[in-house]
Amino acid sequence: MQSDPIADGGGDPEADRRFHELKQFHSAGRGPWAHVPDADWQDWRWQMKQRITTAAQLERLLPNLTPAERAGAQQANHKLALGITPYFFNLIQPAAAQCPIRQQVVPQLAEMATAEWELSDPCGEDAHSPVPGLVHRYPDRVLFLVTDRCAAYCRYCTRSRLVSNASGYDFHPEYDRQIAYIAAHPEVRDVLLSGGDPLLLSDEKLENLLSRLRAIPHVEFLRIGTRIPIFLPQRITPELCAMLQQFHPLFMSIHANHPRELTTEVRTALGRLAEAGIPLGNQSVLLKQVNDDPVTMRALVQKLLMCRVKPYYLYQCDLIAGSAHLRASVRQGLAIMRQLRGHTTGYAVPQYVIDAPGGGGKIPVNPETVLSHNADRVVLRNYEGRVFEYPEVAEPGAGRRAGKIEQYEFI
Ligand code: SF4
Repeated sequence: MQSDPIADGGGDPEADRRFHELKQFHSAGRGPWAHVPDADWQDWRWQMKQRITTAAQLERLLPNLTPAERAGAQQANHKLALGITPYFFNLIQPAAAQCPIRQQVVPQLAEMATAEWELSDPCGEDAHSPVPGLVHRYPDRVLFLVTDRCAAYCRYCTRSRLVSNASGYDFHPEYDRQIAYIAAHPEVRDVLLSGGDPLLLSDEKLENLLSRLRAIPHVEFLRIGTRIPIFLPQRITPELCAMLQQFHPLFMSIHANHPRELTTEVRTALGRLAEAGIPLGNQSVLLKQVNDDPVTMRALVQKLLMCRVKPYYLYQCDLIAGSAHLRASVRQGLAIMRQLRGHTTGYAVPQYVIDAPGGGGKIPVNPETVLSHNADRVVLRNYEGRVFEYPEVAEPGAGRRAGKIEQYEFI
């Protein structure tokens, strides 16, 4: 068997140790809520009621807040609300200012600054909304914004203009108009429920909505985009799973960014969804000092497969206002992709994409593998950097010609 110099930690003993530590599953534990009865702790509604939503609560639980975090928490409600479930809070390592979990949910003062290229609607969704709360950007599918609430708020959220009511955006989904639009457009075969987080609806409301969508004959495929299994695994009850499995084919995209988010509690919740026959994919956002290194990303994608989740997309962080401090470079994203492709299971490799600013949709960003291409041959570079030729299929009547090889520039 060949050895792979990039496997695990890349041969660096410290990176190897970190990789193996990140691959372990741990419970989030109870932390400051050790006294809470089990029945409350396991109750998702209790978790929602006990969320950390004020700067004072955060300061009590995290006495080492930096001045930038304190100021960020005090001002958060002017932009994107502060909200962290007790369960998810327990994943923060209080002694580590650069804790990757902390970076995602504890506000920073830097969020209040807007770089010149940043936008409040970076993906141009509003311009493709024929009905409030419905985005019809791609020909055969729509994005159905179900709610403006999430269990916790990600500081880089693309929809921060909509979620948490912080911006006064006046988000009032009108299901009747949204459903009527889908029913009147036979080209819509795929409906993605997102928000906000659809799994914050009660089982009854969600069942009603899914039933109405399933009653539309041309809707072939339903999807739910959710971060609930990560922020609030208590919500993934047997009752919810039994309800969801009536609506197949129903897929679910979860959102995990760091391997420590995949706890034993999350693994159990994802196992329940998988047992209900729901195919699971993961969407990660590339974030500075959270997951912008190959060791962390390799541990994340391998751990996702262990939870029966296919890593689906790795997003370059959208140009959302106030996110510059969390945005990693495209160069680093490509470097990570080079160290995944071929170095680990193909199923574990997500598609790296940039959601084009202004509404251009998701554009795949790939490390260059086609070095040149003409009528005769394709010259390819593999994951080890070795070069191979593949003979091109002759087009009818074209014949072979010693064509000029088109050179591609490496990134
Ligand atoms: S869960 Fe999704 S919609 Fe909610 S704050 Fe996070 S990224 Fe935004």
